[in-house]
Amino acid sequence: MKRKTKKILGYDVDLLSFDNAISLVKKNLNQKVGMHIITINPEIIELAQQNHNFDKIIKNSDLVIPDGVGIKIALFLKGIKQEQIAGIEFAKEILRVCNEEVRKVAFIGAREKVLTRATSLLQNEFNNLDICYKRNGYYRPDEENEIINDLNIVQPEFVLVAMGAPRQDFFIEKCRELLPNTIFIGVGGSFDVWAGAVQRAPEIYRKLYCEWLYRAIKQPERFKRIYKTLPLFLFKAIIDAIKR
Ligand code: UDP
Repeated sequence: MKRKTKKILGYDVDLLSFDNAISLVKKNLNQKVGMHIITINPEIIELAQQNHNFDKIIKNSDLVIPDGVGIKIALFLKGIKQEQIAGIEFAKEILRVCNEEVRKVAFIGAREKVLTRATSLLQNEFNNLDICYKRNGYYRPDEENEIINDLNIVQPEFVLVAMGAPRQDFFIEKCRELLPNTIFIGVGGSFDVWAGAVQRAPEIYRKLYCEWLYRAIKQPERFKRIYKTLPLFLFKAIIDAIKR
């Protein structure tokens, strides 16, 4: 099926509902069609514009989920009303599908304690979750090939990589040669949230599209990142929309 997308600052963003995106992943799991799923936001676009390899990876990815309110605004400026899809919720829903269909899942990233806690809580919630591999995200560069070889042996059907962008996406890209039929998603700090180490924004923030503000208040080091990227992104998005 042809993707319905809209370009935001040079990057194709998929225009689809949460449910349709899940249906697509379900279909690809059934048909063993591998994917690299990107959950795009202004920070990722900024990083990609500065890094040629990351730019290429996003442009070659299979599904670009409109995460982040900045993307919703940029699409709105182009006359498109798109539902915002939170990457963390999307990844969790895929885990629910994997639990129901007893698919092999791998978790890579975050600190060991966070990884252990997150996977054990998820296994309490999803009783049939078949975790075939897990590895924290603080390995030495020379250990990377070993991890990829391990993945090749266990052949997971769905892999979550939580090492922040673009690190997680470079890792995914490296895996895909050996695992062309696997679905990969980069999930940033989601393991920290699932482990209870970081709180997600209360619903009122999410309803008002201000989750980014809550995260910036809770993790002040984020504020610098957001402060630097968001206003500039919005400015560029307005120019992009006018040029259309
Ligand atoms: N992380 C990792 N290895 C590293 C650096 C970071 O596994 O070398 C993990 C970190 O522990 C955290 C996640 O990557 O769980 C990054 O989270 P962040 O909140 O920065 O990502 P974002 O949600 O902003 O993409």
